[in-house]
Amino acid sequence: DGADMDTAFEALKKVFGVISLTRAAACEKDKDAIAKLAIEYLREDMLRAKSFKVETRRSDKAFPMTSIELSQYVGNALSDAYEDIEVDVHDPELVVHIEVRDLAAYVHAMPVHGAGGLPVGCSGTAVTLLSGGIDSPVSTYMIAKRGVHLIPVHFFSFPYTSQQAKDKGIELGRLLTEYCGKMTMEVVPFTHIQEEIRDKCPEEYFTLIMRRFMMRIAEQIAQRSNAKAIVTGENLGQVASQTMEAMASTQAVMTLPILQPLIGMDKEEIVERARQIGTFETSILPYEDCCTVFTPRHPRTRPKISEVERAESKLDIDALVAEALEGIERIELDHE
Ligand code: ATP
Ligand code: MG
Repeated sequence: DGADMDTAFEALKKVFGVISLTRAAACEKDKDAIAKLAIEYLREDMLRAKSFKVETRRSDKAFPMTSIELSQYVGNALSDAYEDIEVDVHDPELVVHIEVRDLAAYVHAMPVHGAGGLPVGCSGTAVTLLSGGIDSPVSTYMIAKRGVHLIPVHFFSFPYTSQQAKDKGIELGRLLTEYCGKMTMEVVPFTHIQEEIRDKCPEEYFTLIMRRFMMRIAEQIAQRSNAKAIVTGENLGQVASQTMEAMASTQAVMTLPILQPLIGMDKEEIVERARQIGTFETSILPYEDCCTVFTPRHPRTRPKISEVERAESKLDIDALVAEALEGIERIELDHE
């Protein structure tokens, strides 16, 4: 009583592990009360459909009728009340559900699809790299759907990227909590690493080396949090760093698996999904990302791992990773 059922119903549609939902009406466990409720509660559905059947589930075995008897009783009452609809037990347009449970009887029909997937948390924890772009909110959503609790990690390079770019990453994480549940975002300062790469490495390797740093840092965060994989929004062939060779050079610095749920999708499909889950409008806000700071004019697209190692050999990798980890800011994310 007093609960906002409309809002609850909408919220439940976004909970992974829920396959379908319907709103039921309740009454006392009496055959006439149930028939009366079905006639009133399902009025619109009964007037619209051409055929129906009744299905009863009875977990209260003390109820005096069998499931089949109750289905027939309510079916007859509905047929009498609505003369234009026929009974069809094989292929009905409308299935009227009756459940006789411990505290009450329930009537419902016309379920809608839930979010499907598995309940968040039942598959363990992973770190998800969440930029401000279109792709990574979708990859985060897809892995959450498989029951994974996620720790979003966002790299930012102030002042090369603005406070607004960081806020956008945070806002995307917040939007995703409707599906992923509460999350703690880890915001990693990336400026010093990027400046060091710019100053000490050959330009054509900038992006590759930067991505290796992202992975090293993500893996350390994962180890601290007992997370078992790193999720990214990569997509084969979309940009220079998304060739198989480039991915090999990032995978080479880590032992955890990288999950790339968008790897075989077209941009159109990703955009469609981003619209569906409600992240697209935020993703296209025009703030720069750290990936577009110091982008090489001619990036290496098919690097050998040994070349990349040589290109980054002037950097004090461990110290830079430690410094970035030291500067992490944690932000609790939840929806209203
Ligand atoms: P997106 O649309 O998700 O930004 P993208 O098409 O721009 O992806 P890249 O720039 O190659 O592709 O980034 C690949 C992946 O690396 C991203 O999907 C994301 O998982 C991760 N990533 C990139 N930039 C950041 C960042 N600033 N913070 C956290 N993760 C990032
Ligand atoms: Mg991006």
